[in-house]
Amino acid sequence: MAWELVNGTIVTPHDVIERGAITIDKTRIAQVAKTSRKANDTMQIDVNGMLVFPGLINCHDHLMGTYVPRVGDRRPYLNWLEWDNDLKSAAAYAERQQIESSDLYQIGGFRHLLCGITRVQDHIPHFVRELFGKNMPIRIISDFAMAHSVTSFALKWGDGIEVEHAKAKEKNIPFITHCSEGYDEETLKSVETLAAKHALSKQTVLIHGIAFSDRDIEMLAENKCNVVWCPVSNLYMFEQTARVKELMDAGINVSLGTDSPMSGSFSIFEEFRTAREFYKFAYGKAIDDRVLVDMLTVNAARAMCLPDAGEIAEGKTADLLLIDGASTNPWAALTHADYADVMLVIADGQPRYGDIAFQPVFEAMKIPYQNVLVKGARKIIAGDIIGVQERIRRAVKFKKELDFLPIEAA
Ligand SMILES: [Zn+2]
Repeated sequence: MAWELVNGTIVTPHDVIERGAITIDKTRIAQVAKTSRKANDTMQIDVNGMLVFPGLINCHDHLMGTYVPRVGDRRPYLNWLEWDNDLKSAAAYAERQQIESSDLYQIGGFRHLLCGITRVQDHIPHFVRELFGKNMPIRIISDFAMAHSVTSFALKWGDGIEVEHAKAKEKNIPFITHCSEGYDEETLKSVETLAAKHALSKQTVLIHGIAFSDRDIEMLAENKCNVVWCPVSNLYMFEQTARVKELMDAGINVSLGTDSPMSGSFSIFEEFRTAREFYKFAYGKAIDDRVLVDMLTVNAARAMCLPDAGEIAEGKTADLLLIDGASTNPWAALTHADYADVMLVIADGQPRYGDIAFQPVFEAMKIPYQNVLVKGARKIIAGDIIGVQERIRRAVKFKKELDFLPIEAA
Protein backbone atom coordinates (compact mmCIF):
# COMPACT_ATOMS: atom_id res chain seq x y z
CA MET A 1 0.00 0.00 0.00
CA ALA A 2 1.32 3.43 -0.94
CA TRP A 3 0.99 6.31 1.51
CA GLU A 4 2.08 9.90 1.58
CA LEU A 5 3.64 12.41 3.92
CA VAL A 6 2.41 15.87 2.96
CA ASN A 7 3.31 19.44 3.96
CA GLY A 8 6.78 18.52 5.14
CA THR A 9 9.95 20.58 4.81
CA ILE A 10 11.98 18.01 2.90
CA VAL A 11 15.75 18.18 3.11
CA THR A 12 17.38 16.60 0.08
CA PRO A 13 21.12 16.86 -0.59
CA HIS A 14 20.45 19.55 -3.21
CA ASP A 15 17.38 21.33 -2.04
CA VAL A 16 14.99 22.17 0.78
CA ILE A 17 11.43 21.63 -0.40
CA GLU A 18 8.84 23.43 1.70
CA ARG A 19 5.34 21.95 1.85
CA GLY A 20 6.52 19.01 -0.20
CA ALA A 21 5.19 15.47 -0.39
CA ILE A 22 6.86 12.08 -0.18
CA THR A 23 5.09 9.02 -1.48
CA ILE A 24 6.14 5.76 0.11
CA ASP A 25 5.41 2.50 -1.66
CA LYS A 26 6.23 -0.55 0.43
CA THR A 27 9.89 -0.08 1.44
CA ARG A 28 10.78 2.58 -1.13
CA ILE A 29 10.36 6.29 -1.76
CA ALA A 30 8.17 6.28 -4.86
CA GLN A 31 8.02 10.04 -5.37
CA VAL A 32 9.27 13.33 -3.97
CA ALA A 33 7.04 16.19 -5.06
CA LYS A 34 7.27 19.94 -4.60
CA THR A 35 3.60 20.27 -3.86
CA SER A 36 1.11 18.27 -1.89
CA ARG A 37 -2.09 17.40 -3.72
CA LYS A 38 -5.08 15.58 -2.36
CA ALA A 39 -5.08 12.06 -3.69
CA ASN A 40 -8.06 9.80 -3.26
CA ASP A 41 -6.43 6.43 -3.31
CA THR A 42 -3.53 6.96 -0.88
CA MET A 43 -3.41 7.58 2.86
CA GLN A 44 -2.11 11.11 3.40
CA ILE A 45 -0.40 12.15 6.61
CA ASP A 46 -0.16 15.90 7.15
CA VAL A 47 3.18 16.49 8.88
CA ASN A 48 2.53 20.20 9.16
CA GLY A 49 5.91 21.76 8.36
CA MET A 50 8.02 19.20 10.21
CA LEU A 51 11.57 18.83 8.92
CA VAL A 52 12.05 15.61 6.98
CA PHE A 53 15.54 14.12 6.79
CA PRO A 54 16.81 10.77 5.58
CA GLY A 55 17.11 8.22 8.40
CA LEU A 56 20.54 8.66 10.00
CA ILE A 57 23.34 6.15 9.52
CA ASN A 58 25.64 5.52 12.49
CA CYS A 59 28.95 4.24 11.13
CA HIS A 60 30.39 2.80 14.33
CA ASP A 61 29.03 0.92 17.31
CA HIS A 62 29.42 -2.37 19.16
CA LEU A 63 25.83 -3.30 19.92
CA MET A 64 26.75 -5.96 22.46
CA GLY A 65 28.46 -3.22 24.45
CA THR A 66 25.23 -1.25 24.88
CA TYR A 67 25.50 -0.68 28.61
CA VAL A 68 26.51 1.86 31.25
CA PRO A 69 28.35 3.27 33.13
CA ARG A 70 31.33 4.22 31.02
CA VAL A 71 34.54 2.48 31.95
CA GLY A 72 37.78 4.43 32.24
CA ASP A 73 39.50 4.40 35.63
CA ARG A 74 42.97 4.88 34.16
CA ARG A 75 42.27 7.48 31.48
CA PRO A 76 43.81 8.68 29.26
CA TYR A 77 44.82 5.38 27.68
CA LEU A 78 47.73 4.44 25.48
CA ASN A 79 45.56 2.29 23.19
CA TRP A 80 42.27 0.37 23.07
CA LEU A 81 43.80 -2.69 24.75
CA GLU A 82 44.48 -0.87 28.01
CA TRP A 83 40.88 0.30 28.04
CA ASP A 84 39.66 -3.19 27.20
CA ASN A 85 41.57 -4.60 30.20
CA ASP A 86 39.82 -2.09 32.46
CA LEU A 87 36.51 -2.95 30.82
CA LYS A 88 36.90 -6.68 31.45
CA SER A 89 37.64 -6.10 35.14
CA ALA A 90 34.91 -3.48 35.65
CA ALA A 91 31.83 -4.08 37.83
CA ALA A 92 29.65 -2.83 34.96
CA TYR A 93 31.06 -5.55 32.71
CA ALA A 94 30.28 -8.29 35.25
CA GLU A 95 26.77 -6.86 35.56
CA ARG A 96 26.37 -6.76 31.78
CA GLN A 97 27.45 -10.39 31.50
CA GLN A 98 24.23 -11.43 33.27
CA ILE A 99 22.13 -10.07 30.39
CA GLU A 100 21.23 -12.05 27.27
CA SER A 101 23.32 -10.81 24.33
CA SER A 102 20.17 -10.63 22.20
CA ASP A 103 18.70 -8.16 24.71
CA LEU A 104 21.85 -6.00 24.57
CA TYR A 105 21.39 -5.94 20.81
CA GLN A 106 17.75 -4.93 21.24
CA ILE A 107 18.50 -2.00 23.55
CA GLY A 108 21.32 -1.03 21.19
CA GLY A 109 18.79 -0.83 18.38
CA PHE A 110 16.21 1.04 20.45
CA ARG A 111 18.72 3.59 21.72
CA HIS A 112 19.45 4.59 18.12
CA LEU A 113 15.83 4.49 17.01
CA LEU A 114 14.98 7.13 19.66
CA CYS A 115 17.49 9.44 17.91
CA GLY A 116 16.36 8.85 14.33
CA ILE A 117 19.11 6.44 13.38
CA THR A 118 17.76 3.80 11.02
CA ARG A 119 20.98 1.91 10.23
CA VAL A 120 24.00 1.11 12.31
CA GLN A 121 27.35 -0.51 11.66
CA ASP A 122 27.97 -3.12 14.37
CA HIS A 123 31.70 -3.82 14.50
CA ILE A 124 31.92 -7.47 15.47
CA PRO A 125 32.55 -10.73 13.58
CA HIS A 126 29.56 -11.61 11.43
CA PHE A 127 28.73 -14.87 13.23
CA VAL A 128 28.16 -12.98 16.50
CA ARG A 129 25.77 -10.49 14.93
CA GLU A 130 23.97 -13.23 13.03
CA LEU A 131 23.42 -15.06 16.31
CA PHE A 132 22.16 -12.17 18.45
CA GLY A 133 21.11 -9.31 16.17
CA LYS A 134 17.75 -10.70 15.06
CA ASN A 135 14.40 -8.88 14.76
CA MET A 136 16.05 -5.56 15.42
CA PRO A 137 14.19 -2.23 15.77
CA ILE A 138 16.51 -0.77 13.09
CA ARG A 139 18.63 -2.25 10.35
CA ILE A 140 22.15 -3.44 11.09
CA ILE A 141 24.54 -2.97 8.20
CA SER A 142 25.69 -6.50 7.50
CA ASP A 143 27.56 -6.38 4.21
CA PHE A 144 31.15 -5.53 5.01
CA ALA A 145 34.61 -7.02 5.23
CA MET A 146 36.58 -6.33 8.38
CA ALA A 147 39.51 -6.44 10.69
CA HIS A 148 39.47 -5.53 14.37
CA SER A 149 42.48 -3.23 14.11
CA VAL A 150 45.88 -3.08 12.46
CA THR A 151 48.43 -4.15 15.07
CA SER A 152 49.85 -7.55 16.06
CA PHE A 153 47.71 -7.42 19.22
CA ALA A 154 44.46 -6.91 17.28
CA LEU A 155 41.63 -9.33 18.00
CA LYS A 156 41.55 -12.05 15.36
CA TRP A 157 38.43 -10.91 13.56
CA GLY A 158 37.93 -11.78 9.89
CA ASP A 159 40.35 -13.58 7.58
CA GLY A 160 43.23 -11.11 7.77
CA ILE A 161 43.62 -7.62 6.36
CA GLU A 162 44.76 -8.59 2.82
CA VAL A 163 42.02 -11.18 2.31
CA GLU A 164 39.27 -9.03 3.81
CA HIS A 165 40.25 -5.97 1.78
CA ALA A 166 40.33 -8.05 -1.41
CA LYS A 167 36.87 -9.36 -0.53
CA ALA A 168 35.63 -5.78 -0.13
CA LYS A 169 36.97 -4.76 -3.53
CA GLU A 170 35.51 -7.75 -5.27
CA LYS A 171 32.02 -7.30 -3.78
CA ASN A 172 32.04 -3.50 -3.61
CA ILE A 173 31.43 -3.49 0.12
CA PRO A 174 33.38 -1.57 2.78
CA PHE A 175 36.49 -2.91 4.46
CA ILE A 176 36.17 -1.61 8.02
CA THR A 177 38.76 -1.55 10.76
CA HIS A 178 39.68 0.42 13.88
CA CYS A 179 42.81 2.40 13.00
CA SER A 180 45.32 4.66 14.70
CA GLU A 181 43.35 4.51 17.96
CA GLY A 182 46.22 5.18 20.35
CA TYR A 183 49.85 6.06 20.63
CA ASP A 184 51.97 2.91 20.97
CA GLU A 185 54.55 2.30 18.27
CA GLU A 186 52.53 -0.21 16.25
CA THR A 187 49.30 1.77 16.42
CA LEU A 188 51.10 4.86 15.16
CA LYS A 189 52.16 2.86 12.10
CA SER A 190 48.64 1.59 11.32
CA VAL A 191 48.24 3.45 8.02
CA GLU A 192 51.73 2.43 6.85
CA THR A 193 50.89 -1.17 7.70
CA LEU A 194 47.64 -0.97 5.74
CA ALA A 195 49.51 0.52 2.77
CA ALA A 196 52.06 -2.31 2.88
CA LYS A 197 49.18 -4.80 2.81
CA HIS A 198 47.59 -2.99 -0.17
CA ALA A 199 44.52 -2.26 1.93
CA LEU A 200 44.05 1.45 1.24
CA SER A 201 41.31 2.13 -1.30
CA LYS A 202 37.86 3.66 -1.61
CA GLN A 203 36.51 0.53 0.13
CA THR A 204 38.63 1.27 3.20
CA VAL A 205 36.79 2.69 6.23
CA LEU A 206 39.02 3.62 9.15
CA ILE A 207 37.44 4.10 12.56
CA HIS A 208 38.87 6.72 14.96
CA GLY A 209 42.22 7.78 13.44
CA ILE A 210 43.16 9.89 16.46
CA ALA A 211 46.89 9.54 15.74
CA PHE A 212 46.95 10.19 11.98
CA SER A 213 50.12 12.00 10.88
CA ASP A 214 50.23 14.49 8.00
CA ARG A 215 51.67 11.73 5.79
CA ASP A 216 48.86 9.36 6.85
CA ILE A 217 46.26 11.93 5.85
CA GLU A 218 47.96 12.39 2.48
CA MET A 219 47.94 8.65 1.86
CA LEU A 220 44.27 8.34 2.85
CA ALA A 221 43.36 11.19 0.51
CA GLU A 222 45.40 9.74 -2.37
CA ASN A 223 43.66 6.40 -1.97
CA LYS A 224 40.15 7.85 -1.42
CA CYS A 225 39.75 6.15 1.97
CA ASN A 226 36.93 6.91 4.40
CA VAL A 227 37.22 7.86 8.06
CA VAL A 228 34.66 7.45 10.85
CA TRP A 229 34.95 10.14 13.50
CA CYS A 230 33.90 9.20 17.05
CA PRO A 231 34.62 12.35 19.06
CA VAL A 232 32.88 11.42 22.34
CA SER A 233 34.57 8.04 22.64
CA ASN A 234 37.99 9.40 21.62
CA LEU A 235 37.92 12.40 23.94
CA TYR A 236 36.74 10.20 26.81
CA MET A 237 39.37 7.48 26.39
CA PHE A 238 42.31 9.48 25.03
CA GLU A 239 41.55 13.18 25.62
CA GLN A 240 42.23 13.48 21.90
CA THR A 241 40.32 12.92 18.68
CA ALA A 242 40.85 12.84 14.92
CA ARG A 243 42.02 16.00 13.13
CA VAL A 244 38.71 16.23 11.43
CA LYS A 245 39.20 19.57 9.67
CA GLU A 246 42.50 18.44 8.15
CA LEU A 247 40.82 15.22 7.00
CA MET A 248 37.95 17.09 5.38
CA ASP A 249 40.26 19.72 3.86
CA ALA A 250 42.21 16.87 2.26
CA GLY A 251 38.96 15.71 0.64
CA ILE A 252 38.55 12.58 2.75
CA ASN A 253 35.01 11.30 3.25
CA VAL A 254 34.26 11.61 6.97
CA SER A 255 31.23 10.11 8.69
CA LEU A 256 30.24 9.92 12.34
CA GLY A 257 29.93 7.06 14.82
CA THR A 258 28.78 6.82 18.42
CA ASP A 259 30.82 3.78 19.47
CA SER A 260 29.27 1.85 22.39
CA PRO A 261 28.03 3.77 25.43
CA MET A 262 30.66 2.09 27.61
CA SER A 263 33.14 4.57 26.11
CA GLY A 264 31.14 6.62 23.63
CA SER A 265 28.08 8.83 23.46
CA PHE A 266 24.65 8.00 24.84
CA SER A 267 22.92 9.55 21.85
CA ILE A 268 23.69 11.13 18.51
CA PHE A 269 22.53 14.40 20.08
CA GLU A 270 25.45 14.19 22.51
CA GLU A 271 27.77 13.32 19.61
CA PHE A 272 26.63 16.46 17.72
CA ARG A 273 27.19 18.59 20.82
CA THR A 274 30.70 17.25 21.42
CA ALA A 275 31.61 17.46 17.73
CA ARG A 276 30.60 21.12 17.69
CA GLU A 277 32.45 21.92 20.93
CA PHE A 278 35.62 20.13 19.87
CA TYR A 279 35.68 21.80 16.47
CA LYS A 280 35.21 25.27 17.99
CA PHE A 281 37.92 24.58 20.56
CA ALA A 282 40.41 23.07 18.09
CA TYR A 283 39.87 25.35 15.09
CA GLY A 284 38.44 28.53 16.59
CA LYS A 285 35.32 28.49 14.43
CA ALA A 286 31.98 26.73 14.23
CA ILE A 287 31.57 23.57 12.19
CA ASP A 288 28.91 23.87 9.51
CA ASP A 289 25.75 22.09 10.69
CA ARG A 290 25.19 20.81 7.20
CA VAL A 291 28.60 19.12 7.27
CA LEU A 292 27.62 17.29 10.46
CA VAL A 293 24.33 16.13 8.94
CA ASP A 294 26.16 14.96 5.80
CA MET A 295 28.39 12.82 8.03
CA LEU A 296 25.33 10.82 9.11
CA THR A 297 23.62 10.72 5.73
CA VAL A 298 25.33 11.03 2.32
CA ASN A 299 28.88 10.54 3.61
CA ALA A 300 27.86 7.53 5.67
CA ALA A 301 26.01 5.94 2.73
CA ARG A 302 29.10 6.41 0.58
CA ALA A 303 31.44 4.91 3.18
CA MET A 304 29.15 1.95 3.83
CA CYS A 305 28.52 1.37 0.08
CA LEU A 306 24.77 1.82 0.47
CA PRO A 307 23.46 3.39 -2.75
CA ASP A 308 19.86 3.11 -1.49
CA ALA A 309 20.41 5.16 1.68
CA GLY A 310 21.41 8.56 3.01
CA GLU A 311 19.17 10.80 0.95
CA ILE A 312 15.58 11.52 0.14
CA ALA A 313 15.08 10.74 -3.52
CA GLU A 314 12.91 8.53 -5.68
CA GLY A 315 13.90 4.88 -5.56
CA LYS A 316 15.79 5.12 -2.26
CA THR A 317 14.77 3.07 0.75
CA ALA A 318 12.09 4.89 2.74
CA ASP A 319 14.15 5.54 5.86
CA LEU A 320 13.03 8.92 7.17
CA LEU A 321 13.43 11.09 10.23
CA LEU A 322 10.95 13.84 11.00
CA ILE A 323 11.82 16.44 13.58
CA ASP A 324 10.27 19.61 14.94
CA GLY A 325 12.25 22.72 14.11
CA ALA A 326 12.54 25.89 12.08
CA SER A 327 12.86 25.57 8.31
CA THR A 328 15.22 28.58 8.14
CA ASN A 329 18.17 26.29 8.93
CA PRO A 330 16.99 22.67 9.05
CA TRP A 331 20.56 21.33 9.52
CA ALA A 332 21.04 23.41 12.65
CA ALA A 333 17.64 22.22 13.91
CA LEU A 334 18.81 18.62 13.59
CA THR A 335 22.25 19.07 15.12
CA HIS A 336 20.69 20.94 18.06
CA ALA A 337 17.78 18.52 18.49
CA ASP A 338 17.02 16.41 21.53
CA TYR A 339 14.80 13.38 22.18
CA ALA A 340 11.55 15.35 22.41
CA ASP A 341 12.10 16.88 18.95
CA VAL A 342 12.01 13.52 17.18
CA MET A 343 8.49 13.35 15.79
CA LEU A 344 8.55 10.28 13.56
CA VAL A 345 11.05 7.66 12.44
CA ILE A 346 10.25 5.52 9.40
CA ALA A 347 12.47 2.58 8.52
CA ASP A 348 12.02 0.40 5.45
CA GLY A 349 8.77 2.25 4.74
CA GLN A 350 7.21 1.56 8.13
CA PRO A 351 6.71 3.90 11.07
CA ARG A 352 8.77 2.60 14.00
CA TYR A 353 8.73 5.41 16.52
CA GLY A 354 7.06 8.75 16.90
CA ASP A 355 5.01 11.32 18.69
CA ILE A 356 1.66 10.27 20.13
CA ALA A 357 0.02 12.37 17.37
CA PHE A 358 1.04 9.66 14.88
CA GLN A 359 -0.90 6.95 16.70
CA PRO A 360 -3.54 6.81 13.90
CA VAL A 361 -0.78 6.00 11.39
CA PHE A 362 0.47 3.05 13.46
CA GLU A 363 -3.14 1.92 13.85
CA ALA A 364 -3.95 2.25 10.15
CA MET A 365 -0.84 0.29 9.20
CA LYS A 366 -1.53 -2.32 11.91
CA ILE A 367 1.86 -1.90 13.53
CA PRO A 368 1.89 -3.11 17.15
CA TYR A 369 3.27 -0.41 19.43
CA GLN A 370 3.75 0.61 23.04
CA ASN A 371 2.93 3.93 24.69
CA VAL A 372 5.98 5.36 26.38
CA LEU A 373 7.36 8.53 27.94
CA VAL A 374 10.72 9.61 26.57
CA LYS A 375 12.16 12.28 28.86
CA GLY A 376 8.58 13.11 29.75
CA ALA A 377 7.31 13.39 26.14
CA ARG A 378 4.52 11.02 25.08
CA LYS A 379 5.72 8.79 22.27
CA ILE A 380 4.77 5.49 20.68
CA ILE A 381 7.24 2.84 19.64
CA ALA A 382 6.97 -0.38 17.62
CA GLY A 383 8.17 -3.56 19.29
CA ASP A 384 8.54 -4.46 22.94
CA ILE A 385 10.97 -2.01 24.47
CA ILE A 386 9.26 -2.23 27.89
CA GLY A 387 9.60 -6.03 27.88
CA VAL A 388 13.31 -5.81 27.06
CA GLN A 389 13.83 -3.25 29.83
CA GLU A 390 12.04 -5.55 32.30
CA ARG A 391 14.08 -8.59 31.25
CA ILE A 392 17.29 -6.64 31.77
CA ARG A 393 16.20 -5.52 35.24
CA ARG A 394 15.31 -9.09 36.15
CA ALA A 395 18.70 -10.31 34.89
CA VAL A 396 20.73 -7.82 36.94
CA LYS A 397 18.29 -8.05 39.89
CA PHE A 398 17.77 -4.33 40.41
CA LYS A 399 16.04 -1.41 38.69
CA LYS A 400 18.90 -0.56 36.37
CA GLU A 401 18.68 2.89 34.78
CA LEU A 402 20.08 2.98 31.26
CA ASP A 403 21.00 6.61 30.52
CA PHE A 404 20.92 6.02 26.77
CA LEU A 405 17.35 4.71 26.99
CA PRO A 406 15.42 7.49 28.79
CA ILE A 407 12.13 5.68 28.49
CA GLU A 408 9.32 4.49 30.74
CA ALA A 409 5.94 2.91 30.17
CA ALA A 410 3.16 5.49 29.82
ZN1 LIG B 1 35.05 0.40 18.27
